[in-house]
Amino acid sequence: MLKELKISTFQKQEIIDLTKKIQEIVENSGVENGLCLVYVPHATAGILINENYDASVCKDILTNLEKIAPSNGNYEHNKIDDNAHSHIKASMLSPSETLIIDGGNLILGTWQGIALAEFDGPKTRKILIKIIKN
Ligand code: ZN
Repeated sequence: MLKELKISTFQKQEIIDLTKKIQEIVENSGVENGLCLVYVPHATAGILINENYDASVCKDILTNLEKIAPSNGNYEHNKIDDNAHSHIKASMLSPSETLIIDGGNLILGTWQGIALAEFDGPKTRKILIKIIKN
């Protein structure tokens, strides 16, 4: 089963928690056991699994990615499209994550959630969710 989510981002760079939305899609799928792949088909955004309880974790992730690829840095790609830092940050994450579905629920650690990382917002991002029953 393939589902699509449209997520509007509001900041240039931000991390948006998707856990409840993905869990809802899993529940509605009726799949009790299997895998859930969450994929963002965009070159300047990423998917990550990390702490979604304390918001300062996401802030620290963004702050430290900014140190590695500063927004105002000098990049080749900026001659074509002024968002090279966004591509570099996205490439340090991944466009997808795979979660285990067990008993109709996503297996996540107590503090873990699944999130979209936006590096070239604000935009409307497509997110694909593929659920595989086994
Ligand atoms: Zn670009």
